[in-house]
Order: sequence, then structure tokens, then C-alpha cells
Amino acid sequence: MSTSLSTDVLIVGGGVAGLWLNARLRQQGYSTVLLERGALGGGQSIKSQGIIHGGTKYALHGALTGASEAIADMPRRWREAIAGTGELDLGGVRLLSDAHYLWSPGTLAGNLTSFFASKAVRSRVEQVKGDALPPALQNSRFKGKVYRLSELVLDVPSLIARLAQLAGDSLMAATRIEPLHEGEELVGLTVDGIAIRAQRIVLNAGAGNAELLASLGLDQPAMQRRPLHMVIVKSVNLKPLYAHCLGGGTKPRVTVTSHPASDGRWVWYLGGDLAEADGVARAPEAQIEAARRELADLVPWIDLSDAQWATLRVERAEPAQSNQVRPDNAFLAEQGRLLVGWPTKLALAPDFSDRVEAALRNDGIHPLPHAPLPALPRPPLARPFWEELLP
Ligand code: FAD
Repeated sequence: MSTSLSTDVLIVGGGVAGLWLNARLRQQGYSTVLLERGALGGGQSIKSQGIIHGGTKYALHGALTGASEAIADMPRRWREAIAGTGELDLGGVRLLSDAHYLWSPGTLAGNLTSFFASKAVRSRVEQVKGDALPPALQNSRFKGKVYRLSELVLDVPSLIARLAQLAGDSLMAATRIEPLHEGEELVGLTVDGIAIRAQRIVLNAGAGNAELLASLGLDQPAMQRRPLHMVIVKSVNLKPLYAHCLGGGTKPRVTVTSHPASDGRWVWYLGGDLAEADGVARAPEAQIEAARRELADLVPWIDLSDAQWATLRVERAEPAQSNQVRPDNAFLAEQGRLLVGWPTKLALAPDFSDRVEAALRNDGIHPLPHAPLPALPRPPLARPFWEELLP
């Protein structure tokens, strides 16, 4: 292979942010190369719960804030993309659920009162009963209230596969990435000995951004990591459920999503408060025990005597915030040719891409002629983690 290449935009990181951005830029005529050191989607993306939030959950803190309003358009944009009529053609991506639900297991709790105080929320949620309840909650012993949120849940492996298809020949497996300077100026990256020059370099490598910045001699933008200790459970008796189950606080007690395993069973993936601070401190066995107790309390009619359990530790990587709060928008910082950012949510990948596209427009970066790319070593697609953990 030639020892030098050129492209318009060199993207580092093949999670949802990099893959979505890559597809959008290619559609607009830019030439791109996307570098991935592991498997495509294998960072946070495939370990996410796949919920395309519209921000409704944030109203549990009181009213919807301006920041959470920014996310409100994401379900529409993803829905259109999946229908093949949106900004990207995501036809073939599996929609796991057309709605996510808010589930209050007891009587209407205080947090729901403030939730429904928000007019924006009232127009977006609708109570469901009887046959309209999620299948796992259709039981005579079920008590509580369930509200349908206009948010969707995606099968992330099929999303990553489709975005990788849209990447054409632009994907490159990369082991060693070093800065490529001309004089003082960063003009590209040297990737496993190949010099790749680019008009712009975008670092969207999730938790890998900090290390990449350090290799470029930079310490900004600063990154925060938020550790989570998620639980998965597989059983013949599980039916699909996509819901935030509310406790007394402002965060969901448990957030449940359901994922199809290759043996035909459903895997429930449990996050929310269960997976945060106390959950992170627990050893895996204690965390499984805590999850067992939660499910025995919330869905006692489901027989889990045959269930297989496992836990998954994973960190969310985000721009540093004061008090480790959660950012509600995609984030992008610019330093000369270098753009660095995090979508902060899978749902916000389109917002991340918008920000990069706007930066290219503002800087007058247009597609230039480049020699066709040689055949590049292609990174693999990540396997669903539940297939690895619960074979
Ligand atoms: P990643 O998916 O982490 O991708 C980064 C990629 O960069 C990886 O493939 C990695 O291998 C690669 N990389 C790293 N370093 C290098 C390097 N030096 N060179 C080359 N490649 C490199 N968001 C939602 O909207 N809805 C949800 O329901 C949701 N649930 C979540 C549940 C959990 C448990 C977690 C952890 C996150 C969840 N999120 C959710 C957040 C969401 O997963 C992330 O915001 C999003 O996936 C980040 O995408 P990304 O492309 O920035 O990063």
C-alpha cells in the first residue's frame, strides 16, 4: 500500500458518532477515512440501551430545561431515517420498540406530579392500560401506572451494521496513530506507518479521546468518565419491556430494555439507578442479587428460576462537567484543523454530526479531488455483548 493518502475529513473512532458523521459527510461529497482500533460499535455504542430519548425523562427533575428541549427532535429524525425518508437511509435497522414507557409501580409519586406539571410533557405522554400495556406487564397482579413516551428503541447491532455499509470503502483498522505535523501545524495522522493528510481531523473516539489528545500534546477539552454496572438476564419467561421504572427519586429506579438473543430468548438489560453509584460499588454477585430483588419486587409474576445472569461494567465518556452532571447536547470543540467531541448520547449522534457539518461550513471546507483510496484493512463489527456474556 502507498505510504501516504489524502482525504477531506479524517475521523477517529467507529462508534455511532463517527459512523453517523462519516455517512453524512460521504453523502455530501466529502472524501473520508474513518479509523477504528477495535470493533465498530464496540465501545459504548453497542453497550447502550438503544433508547432514542426525546428528553422526557429529564422532566422528572422538575420542568423540562432548555437543554433537554434540544434533544426533543431526535425521535423524529431517527424515525425518518429508519423509514428511509430522513437525512440518512437507515432502512434495515431493526426497531425494537416504537415507544419507551414510564412505569410508576405504586401510586402516583411526587416526582410524577412535577413531571406532569410540565406542559411540554403532557403533550408527549399518554397513559396505557390493559392490552396496550407492554407484554411483560400484562398480568392480573400488575399494579401501577404506565405512560407511553414518544421515544423509540433501536437494535444497536443492526444500526452499526447499516452505518458500516454506508461507509463504503472508507473504514480502516488502525493500531498505531501518531500526529503528522508540517512545521508546527497538525496536517493529518500517521496510521500504522501511512501518512494521511486531511483538511480536518475529527476525534470522536469516546473514552479514547483523552489518550488521543494526550498523544497530540493537548489536555483540552477535558473528559469525564461515568462508571456504570449494568445487569443482563436471559430467560424463556421474559417478554419484551422497554421502560423507566420510577422510584422515589428523580432518576429511574431501573431502566429496562429487551434484546433478542440468537437462541430466540429475550435478554433484559437493566440500567438506571441500579447501575449507578451503589451498583458500581457492588461486586458482580452482589449486583446480580440486587437486580434479582428488584425484579422480584417489581414483576413477581415472572418466573426467573431458569434465568442466566451477568453484569457488565462500562463507562460513559463525556465532556467534563461540573459535579459530574450529564450533558444534554452533543459537544464539539475546535482547535485549528482538529475537531474533538462526544455525542454524549447515542440519540444525539445527528446533533454531533450537525455541529461538525456547521464547523466545516463556517471554515469554508469543501470537498477536494483526491486519488481513490486503496483497499484499506477493514475493522470488524462488534458482536452483541449478551451473546458473549450469556452464550
Ligand atoms: P463509542 O461508541 O465509545 O465509540 C468510540 C470508538 O472509538 C470505539 O469503537 C473505540 O474502539 C474507538 N477508539 C477509541 N480509541 C481509539 C483510537 N485511539 N484509535 C481508533 N479508534 C479508537 N445513549 C442513548 O442515547 N440512549 C441510551 O439508551 C443509552 N444507553 C446507554 C447505556 C450504557 C450502559 C452506556 C454506557 C451508554 C449509553 N448511552 C445511551 C450513551 C451512548 O452509548 C454513547 O453516548 C454513545 O454510544 C457514544 O458514541 P461514540 O461514538 O462517541 O463512542
